[in-house]
Parts: sequence; C-alpha cells; structure tokens
Amino acid sequence: MSSEKSGDVRATRHIRLTSHPGQQGPSGAPAIHWGAATAAKRGPVIGTTTNRSQRNVIGTHSGSYGVYRALAVAAGNLVKGHRADLTNTSPTDLIGPNPQWGEAEKMVSIDPWGASVADVFSEHIAQGYDVRPTIAVTKAHIDLPEIRHAMVFQRLIPDNRVLLENGSAVVTKVAIEPVWWLPGVARRFNVSEADLRRNLFEETGGMYPELVTRSDLEVFLPPIGGQTLYIFGNPRDLADSNVTLTARVHDECNGSDVFGSDICTCRPYLTHAIEECIKGAQQGGVGLIAYSRKEGRALGEVTKFLVYNARKRQLGGDSADKYFLRTECVAGVQDMRFQELMPDVLHWLGIRKIHRLVSMSNDKFDAITGSGIEVGERVKIPDELVPADARVEIEAKIAAGYFTDGAVPDGDQLAATKGRTLG
Ligand SMILES: [Zn+2]
Repeated sequence: MSSEKSGDVRATRHIRLTSHPGQQGPSGAPAIHWGAATAAKRGPVIGTTTNRSQRNVIGTHSGSYGVYRALAVAAGNLVKGHRADLTNTSPTDLIGPNPQWGEAEKMVSIDPWGASVADVFSEHIAQGYDVRPTIAVTKAHIDLPEIRHAMVFQRLIPDNRVLLENGSAVVTKVAIEPVWWLPGVARRFNVSEADLRRNLFEETGGMYPELVTRSDLEVFLPPIGGQTLYIFGNPRDLADSNVTLTARVHDECNGSDVFGSDICTCRPYLTHAIEECIKGAQQGGVGLIAYSRKEGRALGEVTKFLVYNARKRQLGGDSADKYFLRTECVAGVQDMRFQELMPDVLHWLGIRKIHRLVSMSNDKFDAITGSGIEVGERVKIPDELVPADARVEIEAKIAAGYFTDGAVPDGDQLAATKGRTLG
C-alpha cells in the first residue's frame, strides 16, 4: 500500500494500547452506575472505537461481528470512525422502563437502556459522544410451513390480528447485544471478579488486556452472539402478570432450526412453541420466543458434529444411555449454555410470571424460578413431533431431569433407545 509511505498516515498507525489507565487521553468518558434507576444516573455505555477518550467499557459493539467490521476497515470498504446515522431507527414499540431496570443484580448481561439511547442520551450525542444502541426493536410478519400446516388442520384459525389469512403471523422482534456488568456476572457464577476477568482474558488468547489491567472498567461488550425476541401480541402486556404469557426460551440449533436436521427436537419444539404463542395471543394473552445464539449447547457446531460422529460410531451404536457421556468425552462438559444469564432478558421485559413455559429443560426452569419469576404450567413437546432419530436425545434428557408428565425411562430402556447409523 503506497499510503503507508506517507508520513502523516504512518503517524496514525502507531498501535496505542488501551491496557493502562492514563493512556486514554483526556478523561471524557462518562461514568456508568450500573443498576441506577434512571438513564441519566446510570450513564451511557460507550464502546466506540472512534474516539477512545469517550470509551467507558472493555470491548466493542456488535459482538462477534466486530471482527467483520475490523476486516471491512482493513480492506478499505468501511471508513474508520464511521458514525451511524440513527434517523428513523427508533424502536417501533416501547419496552419499559420496568422496575427491574433499577435493580443491579436482576440484569447483569443487558443494557436496559440499549434500545432508547438516541432518546435518553440525546444530550450526550449532541455533545459529540458516540453512543450506539445495543438493542433494536422492529415489526415483522413471519411465515412458517408448520403454522400453515396447523391452519390446514384447523388447530389455528386466522384472526387477521395475530395470524393473517395468508398464514403469516404478526410479530414484534427485538435484537439484543450482550452488555456484561462484570461484578454482577461474577456473582451469578459464584466466582470472584478477578478470576472471571483472568479466565476471560486467558481463554480468549489474551484478546482484551483491559480485563486484567483496568479494574476501573466494569462493563464488557463480549465478542459473542446475542439474542432475538419474537413477541406475539402487545409487548407491553409482558410486564402485566394478569395477562397470560406463553413463552419459550430457545437456544440456537442451526442444523435443526433452519435445515430441519432430524437428530434433535429443536425445530419441532420451536415451531410448536410459536403455535402455542399465536394461540395464546389470540385468546387475549401474549407470546414470547427468546432465541439465544448459543449453538450446540454453546460448544459450537464443530464440536457438535464431532459428538454426532462419536455417538453414531460407538460400540453398540447411538443409544440414549450414552448420550451425555459422548458429549463430555469430546467437549469436556455436557453443556456450556449456562442458563444463569438467560433470565436477564425476561426481567428486561418486566416479566414476573410465565403462565405457560414451553420447555422441558430443568436448567431453564430452575434459572427462571431461581431469579424470582413464577412459572405456571410447563408444556412438553407433543410425542408425535419428536423425529425418530431424536428419541435418543429426548429420552436421555428426560432421564437426566427434563420435565415429563409420563414415565422416566430406566437404564434398560435408555440402552434400548437407539438412533440411526451414519450414512
Ligand atoms: Zn438441535
């Protein structure tokens, strides 16, 4: 690149480390008082890479997509320091403020003011601070073959409000980026903040030195996937415990959710939950799907597919009694989803009661009720929706504590529950 030869460009190419206090230039960064009841008292979360003197967090916006932004800048496709024009981007629906927003420990992984920064931090923005939304709220129509199927069999009837004649469901959808308040995250996992910071630093290959050198920065924008909400009915009803809420918290499974892979129950359970949400909203209630990007129990798809092979090739073939063992052999753990942070989004929405929880997971149930949210009925996946090859997974999970209204399989039954071979 010829521009490297120009003296003034070279001057800007010095790498300035962010890892020590005092190297930030004039201290213009607003303080963050996590859990303060109002936006003005809490202060804006500023993760801009444009003006480092404004930064008051570790990491930057967009989760893992921050790496693509870096690529775009490196490739010359994106002007370094581009500031978003937020004209007309404000939320279609107002969420909160809810009383839970003023309780620091109720929400440690979401910025409750993340959707409304253009409004609540307008003065900061006018003064030149690069405050960006970490939450976006919009409207959509979703069109799923399973919902059309439910209409054909008259399990669902269009009402032209929640469900249209053409089979589309009307939703409010919300995208949320993670914003971690490290002292609170550490307490959720019962570890010291110092240990949490050290492990985050070391296990990401030393990606964020400030984790271990800047204890004055308490907020971290981690390079991980966020979550998406699909709300059926009026979003403000979520905070009213007198309105019947049907909800599913779903962890991403791309193979099943999108491609219909039949080794697990993820898509059938998800679409069953959407059907229940539509039905509930039509009856005067409200429905919620909270979808988290935690692919393959947060182990990632490579590990997940390795486990599939190990399951199918083991002596005796794929069987329910060895389901968790095979995951543990490859990954070192059975699961890395850690539902400890999951209820945060429910508190953000103001939820105090889930009348119908469309989930059999004991981990999710325990996390939700443990965080102070009441759960009424638990709705299991109908047997006829479980793909034949997914029997191994569902039986193993039921034996391990998943909710069932039927019998819990014993050791012999688990060993006899077999999946397909490879090929
Ligand atoms: Zn799955």
